[in-house]
Amino acid sequence: MLGGNKKLSYKKAVLKQLYFDAGISCAEISHRINRSIPLTTRILDELLNENLVMEGGPGSTGLGRKPKTYVLQENSFFVVSVVIDQFLTRIHLVSNQNKKVASAQFEWVPGSNEEALVLFSQRVEELIADSGIDKSIILGVGMAVSGAFDSTNALGLLYQGMSEKSIAQFISRQLQLPVFIDTISSLVALAEFRFGKANRHHNTMVLNLSWDIGLGMILNGEIFRGHKYYAGEFSHLPLFENNKLCTCGKTGCLETEASVLVLMEKIREGIQSGRNSILNNDFDPTDPERAFGLIVHAALHGDQFVIELIADAGYQIGRGVAILIHLLNPDLIVLSGRGAIIGKFWITSIQYAINRLCIPAIAEDVKMEISQMNYNAEIIGATALVMEKIDSTSFDQYPIKLIEPIPIHT
Ligand SMILES: [Zn+2]
Repeated sequence: MLGGNKKLSYKKAVLKQLYFDAGISCAEISHRINRSIPLTTRILDELLNENLVMEGGPGSTGLGRKPKTYVLQENSFFVVSVVIDQFLTRIHLVSNQNKKVASAQFEWVPGSNEEALVLFSQRVEELIADSGIDKSIILGVGMAVSGAFDSTNALGLLYQGMSEKSIAQFISRQLQLPVFIDTISSLVALAEFRFGKANRHHNTMVLNLSWDIGLGMILNGEIFRGHKYYAGEFSHLPLFENNKLCTCGKTGCLETEASVLVLMEKIREGIQSGRNSILNNDFDPTDPERAFGLIVHAALHGDQFVIELIADAGYQIGRGVAILIHLLNPDLIVLSGRGAIIGKFWITSIQYAINRLCIPAIAEDVKMEISQMNYNAEIIGATALVMEKIDSTSFDQYPIKLIEPIPIHT
């Protein structure tokens, strides 16, 4: 179906546009891919014949006769979307409409090495085989990994034991698929920018409220990654003199007082010291997924203690957001990631910190939104990463490398 030539790269460019913006016209596609209308029409006709694209509803803009519009044929191709956080590796097969059609999860092997990568690749192969989906219609693998300075960072640990220059290259060779890797927070921002609350906002800070406090920065309409992809290490802003050791090796970072993991620990300590809460002494932060579910339940049922602690954490996050506002002048702050499900409990205290700490003229136009994507932001972000790269000239040439391997800082 997808061979390697110039026409193929045009086809991929069209598929990319239709993935990110379903229901656009031939003229719009032609403009975006910078090819003539006759050529774009020809490419669309071929994609229609190949059942990759279908005609959508009439275009909604302009007067008079509405132009034909196009959408991707559902389930005509898929992406493998992988999220590797501090605790779990989750693999999903995602359709070109961002729908999960199969998934698996397992604990990542600590101290990972090539053997672990081979095992990982086998898990991906198994998922593809079990799904019954032909591998030839899987475009590639997008991997979202936890941040660069987390001591449990999968990418960092992997790189330590690797003789290969690039983890992406290694996995790509194993799977015979293009592989792209980026940080979870950048990909959450990409998902929000392309499909969520940050859509059409060109200067937006996307907070990934998760085990740590991630930040993806959209500046001038692009994800900003900095000199060596370290931009956005929001969790490690040195805001405290608390002598609490952070996962990065420093003390006093924002996450030592305000991450979801710290929130869990504070809840456990509070309950043990006699604070009243719906949560009882069985509350166990060592099972974070379950513990987070209990926190959500308690907050939504009005548990005063839990709501107070979320508000305290929100204020500290708001101190960091105030710095971002002064430095970067965004127009929007999006609360995304798993914590967004209880976003209304964070947002008021973050807003209070902004009101209290920011120069009014800079802060007055800054809006805050709570994402509706929750966990799915990571999965959609990793899928979108592959689709972002689909028309790059290197897409057909394995192995693919999106980012430089992250060096280990000791
Ligand atoms: Zn830190």
